[in-house]
Amino acid sequence: MKDLTNPTKDGFFGQFGGAYVPEILYKCVHDLQDAYLPIIESEEFKQEFRTLLRDYAGRPSPLYYAKRMSERYGCQLYLKREDLNHTGAHKINNAIGQILLARKMGKTRIIAETGAGQHGVATATVCALFGMDCEIFMGKTDVERQHPNVERMKMLGAKVHPVTTGNMTLSDACSEAIRDWCCHPEDTFYLVGSTMGPHPYPDIVAKMQSVISEEIKWQLQEKIGRDYPDYLIACVGGGSNAAGTIYHYVDDDRVKIVLAEAGGHGIDTDYTAATMHCGTEGIIHGARTLVMQTDDGQIKEAFTISAGLDYPGIGPMHAYLAQQGREKVLAINDDEAIYAGYELTRTEGIIPAIESAHAVAALRKLSFKPSDVVVLTVSGRGDKDMNTYLTHKDMAKEYGKF
Ligand SMILES: *Cc1c(COP(=O)(O)O)cnc(C)c1O
Repeated sequence: MKDLTNPTKDGFFGQFGGAYVPEILYKCVHDLQDAYLPIIESEEFKQEFRTLLRDYAGRPSPLYYAKRMSERYGCQLYLKREDLNHTGAHKINNAIGQILLARKMGKTRIIAETGAGQHGVATATVCALFGMDCEIFMGKTDVERQHPNVERMKMLGAKVHPVTTGNMTLSDACSEAIRDWCCHPEDTFYLVGSTMGPHPYPDIVAKMQSVISEEIKWQLQEKIGRDYPDYLIACVGGGSNAAGTIYHYVDDDRVKIVLAEAGGHGIDTDYTAATMHCGTEGIIHGARTLVMQTDDGQIKEAFTISAGLDYPGIGPMHAYLAQQGREKVLAINDDEAIYAGYELTRTEGIIPAIESAHAVAALRKLSFKPSDVVVLTVSGRGDKDMNTYLTHKDMAKEYGKF
């Protein structure tokens, strides 16, 4: 059987991945490379991880048959409800897994980057749970547009550093977190929020999130008597909820994989975050992958209405799977995502995160047979995005009115 999900020993998926880090981080990145697999494959770790996912995060998350959306799109649509997890998104799965890993490695201080604030909140949450020091780096633009999450992090006891370099969003927050890590490599664990960064982070995060597809398998078996769908759909920023959704199906050719990246104003404009459409090979935050960059290699700013998808890179696993034709990647523009967010809300009574609304919008771009079983991951809930939905409501009127 093909094995498309596991990187080589050096962290490569085809030509993508690796660990391109400053010399001062060599030792701690190599220590992590040596330590992570034996730890996460140990019975003790698995036991602790499973117990916390169940009793603390609230897993398994439901697989919900969306009857009215199914009728609308002429398929059998199931929603994987990561929005119902503790703290409101899939991010908590990875945060729990990595803090257990950090503790086993004897680290005492946790740092993290965040965009929409979901990863910052998840990290601050698990730090409160284990009584560990927590510092979060967040672009100043995001601090302003995601205010409720900033307050949540502070209430949880984290220190939030507004980052004022670049366009002050997710990419700049990552750079700042890496800078901090360089100053404290001994005691600090960098709790990375997506399938990005130097090896082994893309693999760690994919493995922590793979619980999503592990559950989809038995939930489908229970509901429809077979354990695979015809389509899997997820949104992709750095790629973690998508990686979790597809992990146990990547080698199964019966399953079509469709990912939605953020088109912003459109892939033919300068205002986009659609890295897999517009990126070229380069290095960003420690990994060789597709990057939105100028001809002379300067990283371009990403633009999208969705703070959680606002990243000019993409996890190396996805760069590889898209290159191999295993993933079909669609660019969803801001207006299409806003429309899809209202559509899911009015059709099923579920307000999705604006990130997840990008995945919902992909439904309109596909044609299904009535018997097709489609599993779409709702990566998070929309509470944090109320302001965005309300102020941009008119943007979507081209597609229908709400
Ligand atoms: C962070 C986030 C994303 C994007 O991150 P991935 O690593 O690509 O999953 C998507 N949806 C929600 C709700 C998020 O919080």
